[in-house]
Amino acid sequence: MRVLIRGADILTAGSQGLVVQGDILIDSSSGNIEYVGEHFDGLYDEVIYAYGKLVTPGLINTHTHLAMTVFRGYGEDMELSKWLSEKIWPKEAELTDDVVYAGSVLGIYEMLMTGTTSFVDMYFHEEATIEAIKHTGIRAFITPGIIESEGWERRVEFTVDLLNRKLPPNIEVHTSIHGLYTCGPEVVKAVSDLAKHENLFIHMHLLEAPWERQAIEEKHGSDFLKRYRDKYGWFDDIRILAAHGVWLTDEEIRLVAGKKFSIAHCPQSNLKLVSGVAPVWMYIESGVNVSVGTDGAASNNNLDMLEEVRVAAMLGKWRAGDPTAMPAKLAFEMMTVKGAKAVGRDDIGSLEIGKKADLVVWNVSSGPWWYPQWGTEDGYYAHLIYSASSLSVERVFISGEEVFRNGALLKLNLDVYGLFNKVVGQFYGGGDKGVH
Ligand SMILES: [Zn+2]
Repeated sequence: MRVLIRGADILTAGSQGLVVQGDILIDSSSGNIEYVGEHFDGLYDEVIYAYGKLVTPGLINTHTHLAMTVFRGYGEDMELSKWLSEKIWPKEAELTDDVVYAGSVLGIYEMLMTGTTSFVDMYFHEEATIEAIKHTGIRAFITPGIIESEGWERRVEFTVDLLNRKLPPNIEVHTSIHGLYTCGPEVVKAVSDLAKHENLFIHMHLLEAPWERQAIEEKHGSDFLKRYRDKYGWFDDIRILAAHGVWLTDEEIRLVAGKKFSIAHCPQSNLKLVSGVAPVWMYIESGVNVSVGTDGAASNNNLDMLEEVRVAAMLGKWRAGDPTAMPAKLAFEMMTVKGAKAVGRDDIGSLEIGKKADLVVWNVSSGPWWYPQWGTEDGYYAHLIYSASSLSVERVFISGEEVFRNGALLKLNLDVYGLFNKVVGQFYGGGDKGVH
């Protein structure tokens, strides 16, 4: 079905910049944008009048652990290793598919509600998360988490098994190394061989905390990035998506700049866990692709990309010691086109003919944060990055299909909070009454 969105201001993140009171034609059968620009005169099946609305590309969250929504608020203000060993790891061992499904649906609901159309996930019980994705229609990049513990080889086999399944086109499977401090050279070899053979990207946590480098060097020796480039073709042949990347050296930055290497910058998690403040402005100036991730809801504690990118912009200025660093347009690109590049897709992240119709309609009369209504490209960047609330998201389309409108999932008829409270309440031993 061809749907025409008529009369909106369209922030394309592409060569057209801002189209004022323009039209965008999307086709749910091809999933593509068929027209974007000034008044459209051709044929369509349905029209949505969107005068006074803003249309942007859907936001791309390049690092999360989706089902960790079930751990939101569970053990706060604790030292990291104590929190993990006393709170998270014992409960993660009890996770079931039902709990992960409920946590995934809630997380997807939260993402669509806040304008995110794509996310990269690293977790466990992927089949339950995939069910939630199928039921809701969001776009996802699943990277099964691999930690070097007994039986890790089965996780590689499981990734291969997922790759061989027939999944809908909005779900891609890639691979992961949880971290170079939790995985040794054998895991690196197995995952790199798989990535090269199947043309996958490798998603990993990299140099998040100050202590991590020493732990990595004990397993892999120094110059590990250079060695894995030479040995396996990292960031030449194999795309690397590195979450956090707070502590890269100048030499490492030179090594990865301009290559198939992206940092998923997660500033709120870095602040909350006191991991450090990544010098992202310097990374970007050096030619490194930097996208944005929320990390899991246990260390953020939400999946709201506008909030994340706002912190990224402000903290980036502070880290650079320069208020002209990290301008709003760049921050906007970090959650759109640079996110697309991070996952190796050139057909999402901007609104251009032939690209996927992943887009968000914002009601820019829905709150004081949109006023004055400048109606200019820079005005929209400023409001989105520095003042807007994601509560203004009105409709979300993915591959030309509307999946969210006015607070409701359109493909899944379910009491999201009711299911979550029931399943997660039982998980915490609260019986059917839920979490109270
Ligand atoms: Zn993470």
